[in-house]
Amino acid sequence: MEDVLKEIESLREEIRHHNYRYYVLDDPEISDAEYDRLFRRLLELEQQHPDLITPDSPTQRVGAEPQETFTEVKHRIPMLSLENSFHDQDIRDFDARIKRFLKDPTPFDYTVEPKIDGLAVELVYEKGALTVASTRGDGFVGENVTPNIKTILTVPLTLIEMGKRPIPDLLEVRGEVYMETEAFESLNRERINKNLPVFANPRNAAAGSLRQLNPRITARRPLNMFCYGVGEISGDSFDTHYELMVGLQEWGLRVNRPHIRVCGTIEEVIEYCHYLEEHREDFPFEIDGAVIKVNSLALQARLGHKARSPRWALAFKFKPTQETTRILRIDVQVGRTGALTPVAHLEPVEIGGVTVKRATLHNEDEINRKDIREGDTVIVQRAGDVIPEVVKSIPSKRTGQERRFVMPTHCPSCGTKVVKRGDEKISECPNRRCPGRVKEALKHFISKGAMNIEGLGDKIMAQLLDRGMVTEAADLYHLRYEDLIRLDKIEHKSATNLLNAIEGSKNTTLGKFILA
Ligand SMILES: [Zn+2]
Repeated sequence: MEDVLKEIESLREEIRHHNYRYYVLDDPEISDAEYDRLFRRLLELEQQHPDLITPDSPTQRVGAEPQETFTEVKHRIPMLSLENSFHDQDIRDFDARIKRFLKDPTPFDYTVEPKIDGLAVELVYEKGALTVASTRGDGFVGENVTPNIKTILTVPLTLIEMGKRPIPDLLEVRGEVYMETEAFESLNRERINKNLPVFANPRNAAAGSLRQLNPRITARRPLNMFCYGVGEISGDSFDTHYELMVGLQEWGLRVNRPHIRVCGTIEEVIEYCHYLEEHREDFPFEIDGAVIKVNSLALQARLGHKARSPRWALAFKFKPTQETTRILRIDVQVGRTGALTPVAHLEPVEIGGVTVKRATLHNEDEINRKDIREGDTVIVQRAGDVIPEVVKSIPSKRTGQERRFVMPTHCPSCGTKVVKRGDEKISECPNRRCPGRVKEALKHFISKGAMNIEGLGDKIMAQLLDRGMVTEAADLYHLRYEDLIRLDKIEHKSATNLLNAIEGSKNTTLGKFILA
């Protein structure tokens, strides 16, 4: 018995260590197979000796029974919200306010970190063991989600001591529970297949997954967590926010350390905020802004807080990527391969500084499964260089005037009967000479990514196609000056430039290949 207890304890110790290497440092020391062997051995021993199971054993993440309702948890120190800012000047004003308040010319540092779009939670560790986890709620009282939080593999059930600082008797750590973008997308695909409503964004998915009365559902959702601050902490000996983040990591908690930057001036802060916004697509999770904090904890204490937000922190919000608008009508576009793509024409809406009038609906199957209708109020997303897309409809906004979309049986461009491929999901115009297809193929051919032929605008191209002067890309190379000058809206200079551009493209690798 003594030996079994020893083996169990050493297995738990080992598994905790490898969890830390894997989840917190992202730097595993053993293979997944070896890890599985350790884990299975522990499970086996615990099954043989159920009296030796402790709630903090790494095997005890899942298994709690569904709750009837969420109980309330009062936060010892309120979880205040952050003041938002949208412009560079707001950040400079924030800096000026702090300096006025402190009445002290001594320079100080800021930290800037990505603001992850998730759900704020607080974890309470007593003598190193996770005892209570709660949502932010209204900032004063949250919901008890302890069994759910325990299913998140990156949340340690017990703290470890990897640095020189001893584990505090009481540690209230705060952070964001979120879902990575890829995991979110595959969860939504799964939900579409099961005819369940999709989540509008990873934040909704994370919140919906965490706030489950049945923790076994939460356990199946790929949630993750980053810690970014503390509530109450006993015997604390940190000087700066950055040091605190390092300290949390050394206790086995996951912090977004590579992306936390210490900045000496407010202009440096602004520069890093812009850097993060420009690179937001590179993160495997959604970030909707940057959080700016005064680095010195002594200064934070001096600054204190206003009614609902601390004076020492500011959230800089990035331009949004989603907006709500209405679908005016849906029509169908023929692609260069013949695939018919339904396109939503929208009431124009500004998303992140660009007016969006059209968004792709991908295919008929997707429209039906997401139940998107003409006239629907919808959420539209525009992220990076990707074509804007309709994320979901909002059925509660329907008036009864909405119309279901039906895929045409004949090509809208040439009238040829449409064929289906790929599990009937994609409709296609099989006519290789279809003007719609040829036009898209030409557009692709002359684009920057391919031949980079400038001077062939939509109007000229439409005439070339309508008059049958061009039926495929190679025809461009047979165009003569006499042909071009007969077209409407073309003059000597633009005709000559276009011919030169076409001639020049012959020398590119692709051009040589096509003309060979
Ligand atoms: Zn066609």
